[in-house]
Amino acid sequence: MQFRELGLNKPIVKAIEAQGYKNPTLIQEQAIPLVLEKKDVIASAQTGTGKTAAFALPILQNLFDRQDASKKGKKIRALIISPTRELALQIEENFNNYSKYTNLRTGIVYGGVSFEPQKEVIRKGIDILIATPGRLLDLHKQDFVHLDYVETLVLDEADLMLDMGFIDDINKIVRLCPKNKQQLLFSATMPYKVVELAKTILKDPIKIEVAPTSSTVKNVEQLLYYVPKQDKIELCLHILRNTVKGNVIIFRRTKYGVDKLEESLTKNGYKADSIHGDKTQLLRQEALQKFKNGEVRILIATDVAARGIDVKNVDAVINFDLPNISETYVHRIGRTGRAGKNGVAFSLCSADEKDYVLSIQKLINKHLDIVEDHPYPLDPDAKPEVHKSPNSSKYRKGRKSEASKKKKKRWY
Ligand code: AMP
Repeated sequence: MQFRELGLNKPIVKAIEAQGYKNPTLIQEQAIPLVLEKKDVIASAQTGTGKTAAFALPILQNLFDRQDASKKGKKIRALIISPTRELALQIEENFNNYSKYTNLRTGIVYGGVSFEPQKEVIRKGIDILIATPGRLLDLHKQDFVHLDYVETLVLDEADLMLDMGFIDDINKIVRLCPKNKQQLLFSATMPYKVVELAKTILKDPIKIEVAPTSSTVKNVEQLLYYVPKQDKIELCLHILRNTVKGNVIIFRRTKYGVDKLEESLTKNGYKADSIHGDKTQLLRQEALQKFKNGEVRILIATDVAARGIDVKNVDAVINFDLPNISETYVHRIGRTGRAGKNGVAFSLCSADEKDYVLSIQKLINKHLDIVEDHPYPLDPDAKPEVHKSPNSSKYRKGRKSEASKKKKKRWY
C-alpha cells in the first residue's frame, strides 16, 4: 500500500518521502484513515511500530486542510500528552519532520527545565503542542497555555502515564479541552485501568491492535543467567568482555543501582553513560545523544528508557535486575532487534528474582534459554524447576576453558 492511497495529500506525502518511508506500517494503514475522519481511536501499539506517524500524519493533514484564516494568531489545535520528556522530544521531532512542507508549527513543554523558553514558543503561536502532564498544567495555571481550541487530543503511552500516577492530571487535561474534540489513546499494553480510562473519555472509539502486548520481538535471543546477587557485577563485566559486541543498554530497577553500576563499569575502563529520573533533563538528553551517536556504547538506565526511546542499532540489552512488572521486560528487550536486525537480551537472575522469571515466561508464553555454564553460577539447589529448550542454543553450553572461549563465535 502507498501513503497516497491513505488519503494523505501532497505536502504530507512529500515529507514522508523525504524521510525515506516507502510504505505505511500496519498501524499507519489502520489508523490514518480513521484519524482523518476525526474518529476516536484506541490503539494498542508499541514504540517501533511507527505509531507516532500513525497519529502525527493525519493530525497534520486535518490541521492543514482546515486552517481558519479569521482566527487571530495561531491557536493550539492538537495536543499530544506524553509520559516522559524523552518521548515528548521524539514526538516533537516527528511532527517537525512531517510538517516541513506546511506552515504548521509545533511546540513542546516538559518539566525539569526553565519555563521561559517554553513560554516564548507558546507566545509566538503554535498549532500543535507536545507536553508532559505536570508542566502543561503548571503553564495552564499560570495562564500561558490555552486549550480552548484543541480539536484533537492524543494520549500517548497511556499505560505508562497511569503507572506513573498521572490519572488525575489526565482527567484535568481532558476537561480543559473542548468537549467535542477528537481523542486518540495509544498504549503499549491494555491493562484494566487503561480500558477504564478509555471508557470514560473516548466516544465510540474504534479499536486497533497491531501487536499483542506480550509479544517479544522474534529476532531477539533471550538468555537467562542464574547468578548470586553479589556476583552480578562480575557476571555483567564477563558478558561485556566476552559476549557482547556493539551497543548495549543495561537496565536496573533503581536510580541508585544505575549510579553504582556506572561507577563500577567506569572503574573497569568502560565508557558508559546513564539515564534516570534524578538526572537533569539536559544530562538525560546528553547521555542519550552520546549513545545515539556512538560516543559511548553502554547506556545504563532505569525503566524511564525502557519505552518510547527510539534508538537504532542497539545490539543487546542486559537486564541487570529483572523487572518486577513483566510487561516491562517486553519493553526493555524491545530496545534491541529493531528494524529487522538481530538482538540479544541477557537477564541476570538472583535467587530472590526467580518469581519474576516465572511471571515473565507466563506473559510471553515462552521459556528463556538458560545459560548454564558461566563463571558465577547460583547454587543449583536454589534454582526453580527449569525448562530446557529443545532447540538448545549454542550459547548455553560451556565456556569451559579459555581456549574454547576463544574458539567460540561472538554474537556479532
Ligand atoms: P515509532 O513507533 O513512532 O517510535 O517509530 C519507530 C521508527 O519507525 C521511527 O524511527 C520512525 O521514523 C520509523 N518509521 C515510522 N513510519 C515508518 C514507515 N512507514 N516506514 C519506515 N520507517 C518508519
